[in-house]
Amino acid sequence: MPVGTVHHWSNTYFMDIAIRLRYIIYHFFLKYMNKFLTRRLFILIPSMSILKIIFKPMSVLASSLNSKEEWNLSKEDWKTRLSPEAYFILREEGTERAFSSSLNDEKRKGTFHCAGCNLALFSSEMKYDSGTGWPSFWNSIQGSVDTKLDFKLIVPRTEYHCSRCGGHQGHVFNDGPMPTGKRYCNNGLALKFVPA
Ligand SMILES: [Zn+2]
Repeated sequence: MPVGTVHHWSNTYFMDIAIRLRYIIYHFFLKYMNKFLTRRLFILIPSMSILKIIFKPMSVLASSLNSKEEWNLSKEDWKTRLSPEAYFILREEGTERAFSSSLNDEKRKGTFHCAGCNLALFSSEMKYDSGTGWPSFWNSIQGSVDTKLDFKLIVPRTEYHCSRCGGHQGHVFNDGPMPTGKRYCNNGLALKFVPA
């Protein structure tokens, strides 16, 4: 610690406060948290690890799921085909920043294709403005996407991916408009728009 500066006094002053705070927190912890810790947490921790073991096989990346034979490409092949950003989304189930894709505002007639293998996934008639900042659709072209459960944010979400190359597209929720009530929340980087 530097000696002979004005900081010397203030450092010890703050250290003193820190010690007092630690003392208060420690006693609060003993008084109120003890019961909770022993009764609940020590049951919760082992049961969470059991749940983790059960759900582990389900957390397999969609992009590593078996896809059509000719689209069963190696990591290196995908890296040469895709930009680093698109690779992160499609092959590692990444998520782009909200409002970052120009496709969010795309209003022309046409088709949205998988940026990995060019399979048509959505038509412009299925697109709507969800206000979330990601291109959103209330339906997908039949047979173009497959789903799986995803526990990345602890709460289960339904992940969906291109049925041909397995590339991750986004997540589907049940708060979309009628007639389906679905909201396909898609990464713009995982799509390629082809105007009609
Ligand atoms: Zn694809």
